Amino acid sequence: VIEIGKPERSVLTTCAYCGVGCTFRAEMRGEQLVRMIPNKDGKANHGHSCVKGRFAWGYANHADRILKPMIREKIDQPWREVSWDEAIGFAAAKIQAIKAESGPRALGGITSSRCTNEETFLVQKLIRAGFGANNVDTCARVCHSPTGFGLSNAFGTSAGTQDFDSVEDVDVFIVIGANPTDAHPVFGSRMKQRLRQGAKMIVIDPRKIDLVKSAHIQADHHLPLQPGTNVAVLTSLAHVIVTEGLADEAFIRERCDWDEYQDWARFVSDAKHSPEFLEPVTKVPAQTVREAARLYATGGNGAIYYGLGVTEHSQGSSTVMAIANLAMCTGNIGRRGVGVNPLRGQNNVQGACDMGSFPHELSGYRHISNADARALFEADWGVTLDAEPGLRIPNMLDAALDGSFRAIYIQGEDILQSDPDTHHVAAGLAAMDCVIVHDLFLNETANYAHVFLPGSTFLEKDGTFTNAERRIQPVQQVMEPANGYADWQITQMLANAIGCDWNYGHPSEILAEIARLTPTFSGVTWERVVSGEPLQWPVNEKAPQGSPIMHVDGFVRGKGKFMVTEYVPTDERTGPRFPLLLTTGRILSQYNVGAQTRRTGNQVWHDEDILEMHPTDAENRGLKTGDFARLASRSGETTLRVLVTEKVAPGVVYTTFHHPSTQANVVTTDNSDWATNCPEYKVTAVQVTPSNGP
Ligand code: SF4
Repeated sequence: VIEIGKPERSVLTTCAYCGVGCTFRAEMRGEQLVRMIPNKDGKANHGHSCVKGRFAWGYANHADRILKPMIREKIDQPWREVSWDEAIGFAAAKIQAIKAESGPRALGGITSSRCTNEETFLVQKLIRAGFGANNVDTCARVCHSPTGFGLSNAFGTSAGTQDFDSVEDVDVFIVIGANPTDAHPVFGSRMKQRLRQGAKMIVIDPRKIDLVKSAHIQADHHLPLQPGTNVAVLTSLAHVIVTEGLADEAFIRERCDWDEYQDWARFVSDAKHSPEFLEPVTKVPAQTVREAARLYATGGNGAIYYGLGVTEHSQGSSTVMAIANLAMCTGNIGRRGVGVNPLRGQNNVQGACDMGSFPHELSGYRHISNADARALFEADWGVTLDAEPGLRIPNMLDAALDGSFRAIYIQGEDILQSDPDTHHVAAGLAAMDCVIVHDLFLNETANYAHVFLPGSTFLEKDGTFTNAERRIQPVQQVMEPANGYADWQITQMLANAIGCDWNYGHPSEILAEIARLTPTFSGVTWERVVSGEPLQWPVNEKAPQGSPIMHVDGFVRGKGKFMVTEYVPTDERTGPRFPLLLTTGRILSQYNVGAQTRRTGNQVWHDEDILEMHPTDAENRGLKTGDFARLASRSGETTLRVLVTEKVAPGVVYTTFHHPSTQANVVTTDNSDWATNCPEYKVTAVQVTPSNGP
């Protein structure tokens, strides 16, 4: 029994795990954090939480944390602990030397969706204004960049259309490529609650996720598609809606481009897009598709929620556009209970995207080639900005291999473990002259670093996070930074060491700059955020109280845009050598690469990734639950323990990527989305054979 003592005070802050954005009262005794209590006034969680937010904060005090900066000239040398001044000076000297030799475009960086809006904004500012290049990217590249592309094109902005409370008015859910009960547990519970009240559920997923069938709930339709055939399934749903006269033509005529709709309607009406014609491709029974389409089109308020099973494909952007088409053609946009809702994975992935973390966009999604937008930033920052979009993460790695990209500053990302094709990532990092890793732990990427800057946890700083419903919420300091500085201060030190003149005294000053330069944030102030005001962007003159629901009277872009999305099979094909398709996901108790959840000392955390196999496939290979198996693809191989289950269909295997010893991404390919380079994590042709163990 641990005596925690009676709390003396509490601090309001926001969970640093998933995009639901639960708020908590961090209860303190003296300077000790004794427990995290879900905030009953939390607009995203209403007093609820999951096991991660409530209990998985022990990593903040874990012995593995690195608290002193370290440097080394070469990556095969041992690390040398140094002072902050020496580490920052060492990094700055390398950056300046490379800039002098190779120009600013040889430099770049990666912002973190785990850090605050203010920290993310500063990193992209450092790279654009300090380094002098637009080579900035973020982990959304490997998760929701197709959402940005697809929804911006269809609606005019890349954000989810609804607030979470809108779930109370949903009559028919479509959940596609998402597993909310594991990855977004508090919102997943609200979905289940709504199902128990009588709402209908259509699940489009290769696996039998909990929402297909679990205690007291059962989906009305499960479409267990072959991995990689999302666009074909969505087109066949649209085929049924259009050819059976179920489209909402009044809505389309009023709100969308009618000519584009007609082009699209002709396309989806073609017999080659019927569920019957596509059944051999998608493996979804045609009758199930027909019934699901009729239910979504006629069942009242229809809301689509999706996750990385939509975006992490070679047709990720096309899939997002196909989802937008479906919502527009049924009039399911612009009011409570409907909409298109990307379930963001990381706590602040929405914020990182909003803050200008992409190589082609300034904060507020303004293209870098937009001279007016650039002029605003140039006047405020006193610099001239490069008008050319910079490099995305995979392009930075490619450019490193040809010697044209030489230094990178990575804040709060472990790209060696999280990005696809681990060998390619390692080769790119190894080719660089200066890799600066700014993180809590010596992660896998740090094996290739020359400078390690210890990071701070969300408990050690002030700032804001923006959740999946565009809600801007407070992060407030609970304890002193164990490493001495909050992350925004470290970025500021590096900026000043390369010649910038930044004097931020508190994140509220950075937030004021964001509001000054970002029209969707112009009404946001630190005082409003910490007072607990419900602020969902846009918060500006037109919407002083924020915007819970988007596109109410018209789309941000004016008329909604229908786009023809032709199904193109992925290049990744099964064959005699690699006859199975691997897809990946998460479990409730772990988080991404597990850097935090594996360091909480809690017994519920699984300590290995598991390979799920259908009984037929397992039996054919002589495998049973608990056996070790070798998982091999054209890219690489790893060893995992097997779980035999009917959750996956024959021919499909599934695993998670939480544990570094497994390194599931050694097997994933370097295929990526045609528009955004988002990696195709969800489809890899593999073979599974018995193994004696790792
Ligand atoms: Fe944190 Fe997400 Fe769990 Fe809420 S649902 S406590 S935001 S991990």
